[in-house]
Amino acid sequence: MRQQEYGVTVWFTGLSGAGKTTICQFVEKELRIQGYRVEVLDGDAVRQNLCKGLGFSKDDREENIRRIGFVAHLLTRNNVIVLVSAISPYREIREQVRQNIPYFIEVYVNASLEVCEQRDVKGLYKKARAGEIKHFTGIDDPYEIPLCPEVECKTNEESVVQSASKVLEKLEELQYCSVKNIRKFG
Ligand code: ADP
Repeated sequence: MRQQEYGVTVWFTGLSGAGKTTICQFVEKELRIQGYRVEVLDGDAVRQNLCKGLGFSKDDREENIRRIGFVAHLLTRNNVIVLVSAISPYREIREQVRQNIPYFIEVYVNASLEVCEQRDVKGLYKKARAGEIKHFTGIDDPYEIPLCPEVECKTNEESVVQSASKVLEKLEELQYCSVKNIRKFG
C-alpha cells in the first residue's frame, strides 16, 4: 500500500446510463493496481444502505447527495481517493458539497439523453416512458449540467478507456496521484 499524502473526492455526475459507474470502476481498478486507497460510493448501492427510504423528490435527492457528500468528506480527509457515482441532478447541492470538501474534482459524464435511452442499461428509460416510474431524470425530472467541471467525458464519442484516462490524467495533473504508465490504450 502506498503512502498517500492527500485524499480527494472525484464526483461523477450525469444522466442514468451516461457511464458513471463504468468509468468509476475502471478508474478504481487502475488506482488499486497502483497501490492507492480508494473507495467507491455508488448511487445505487448508497440508496440501498445509507439512504434507504429516500425517494426522488427534490428534497430527497438533495438529502441523498448531502449524505454521500458527508461520507466522502470523512474519507477524503483520511487520505482516501473517493469515487462518487451519482446522477446528482441539481447544481446547487453539487456546489454545496464541493464547498465542504477541500479536495474535490467534478467529472461531467456527458451522453445525450437519446444515447442513454438507447443504451437503457437497466431498462429504466423504457419504464419511465411508459409512466411506470415517475420523476426520472431526463424524462420528467430535470438535470442541470455542470458549468465548470474539471473533467468532461463525452461518452457518446469516447471509449471507456479514453474517458477513464481523462480522469486519471486530471488526478495526476493536480498531483493527487502518480499513475505510472496510465495505460494509454485509448
Ligand atoms: P451510469 O452509471 O451513468 O448509469 P453505466 O456505467 O451503468 O451508466 O452504463 C453506461 C453504459 O455505456 C455501459 O454499457 C458502457 O459500456 C457504455 N459506454 C460506452 N462508452 C462509454 C464511455 N466512454 N464511458 C463509460 N461508459 C461507456
